[in-house]
Amino acid sequence: MDVRDRFETPDMRAFREEVRTFVRANLPEDIRRKVAQERMDLPRDDQQRWHKILRAKGWACPGWPKAHGGPGFTDDQRYVFEREIALGDAPRSMIYGEGMLGPTVMAYGTDEQKRQILTGILEGDVFWCQGFSEPNAGSDLASLQCKAERVGDHYVLNGSKMWTSEGHIADWMFGLFRTDNSGRKQEGITFLVLDLKSAGVTVRPILLFEGTHEVNQVFFDNVRVPVTQRLGDEHKGWTIAKYLLSLERFGTAEVSRSLASLGRLKAFLKDHDPFRHAQHEKDAIERRVAELEMELDALEITEVRFLFKQDGANEVGPEASMLKVRGTEIQGDIFELTMMCAGGAALGARRDETGVNIEATRRGQDSALPYFNFRKTLIYAGSNEIQRNIIAKAVLGL
Ligand SMILES: Cc1cc2nc3c(=O)[nH]c(=O)nc-3n(C[C@H](O)[C@H](O)[C@H](O)COP(=O)(O)OP(=O)(O)OC[C@H]3O[C@@H](n4cnc5c(N)ncnc54)[C@H](O)[C@@H]3O)c2cc1C
Repeated sequence: MDVRDRFETPDMRAFREEVRTFVRANLPEDIRRKVAQERMDLPRDDQQRWHKILRAKGWACPGWPKAHGGPGFTDDQRYVFEREIALGDAPRSMIYGEGMLGPTVMAYGTDEQKRQILTGILEGDVFWCQGFSEPNAGSDLASLQCKAERVGDHYVLNGSKMWTSEGHIADWMFGLFRTDNSGRKQEGITFLVLDLKSAGVTVRPILLFEGTHEVNQVFFDNVRVPVTQRLGDEHKGWTIAKYLLSLERFGTAEVSRSLASLGRLKAFLKDHDPFRHAQHEKDAIERRVAELEMELDALEITEVRFLFKQDGANEVGPEASMLKVRGTEIQGDIFELTMMCAGGAALGARRDETGVNIEATRRGQDSALPYFNFRKTLIYAGSNEIQRNIIAKAVLGL
């Protein structure tokens, strides 16, 4: 029996068809085209438009329960939903508000915080970013030193946050701040949310090395944050951060996106022969495509085994590290093969400001940017070296 048979019941097939048809009929073509170019720097307006289309259908925030306005999908439905979104070239869910902060506020927020924060995320009106990493605190996150000093009913922030994805299009930030330095480094960290329009906040762009603007450094100069914007207790933010970081079970392996990327490469090679490969090159490419398909298939089976355990326990432990390492490696291999197929055409990679290529052989040019851009997946969400440490200790017991 194939573990993926669980997605082949009549109900699940009907659900898959419903999502597929909906995406085809409702995804705006300009957004579809950018996603098909593997762009991760989708403008705010594109993300918001798609979110509101899903909201009107009742499918916004697919991981949320009905009680908080989500669709209340079962895990099986959510898996199938996210697959169809990827295969239909639609944008992913908005990770920071919807995927990270929302469920954390459901678990740790006051009623007032739930009312204020969750509504803005659900309606797609408030965009969030994550202020965890700092110039000297990434893998060793608990070393963070961006300071929040308690002054009456406010905290006063000084310091900076680094690599803040979407900081330039976000309205608010959730972050970890140092409120006490006297004990263990995991103690004395406080979880705050703040309006990025507050006086004293500066968002400075950092361009990734292939030129896209996704990340920023955010500076705080005596920024005042009301105490009511603290999640949980003072100095106890580390526990909340650990909860937040454990939330992303779905999608760690990047199977959906990789299936979509490999599908695009195959369709392109079938329909065109723009690079005039010699027969022996075609054979080599076909062999490599087949290898990647098999690797992806094995990864998908592993992912389903981990996510849907026989005993019904849906917690994914250190195995998630295996999914992340293997998934991001395969993803990189797909983009590398795509770029190799394009050969010299990949070197002309350039986009005009609407995201549409302006030079010939569009696919060839599109191939280099994702190859370089997606190097980042080996680093963020816990670098692959750190994941290997976890596997060594927690899985292999070394
Ligand atoms: C594109 C991108 C987007 C990001 N978005 C966000 C965001 O929105 N919000 C946010 O808070 N952060 C974000 N990050 C930060 C990301 O989480 C950190 O970059 C990551 O945790 C690594 O930290 P670092 O960059 O400080 O590198 P370091 O921790 O300084 O690591 C440098 C190198 O040393 C290796 N290394 C470190 N420690 C060990 C060890 N113990 N054993 C073996 N090797 C080790 C690492 O693997 C890495 O190769 C983003 C990063 C990138 C690249």
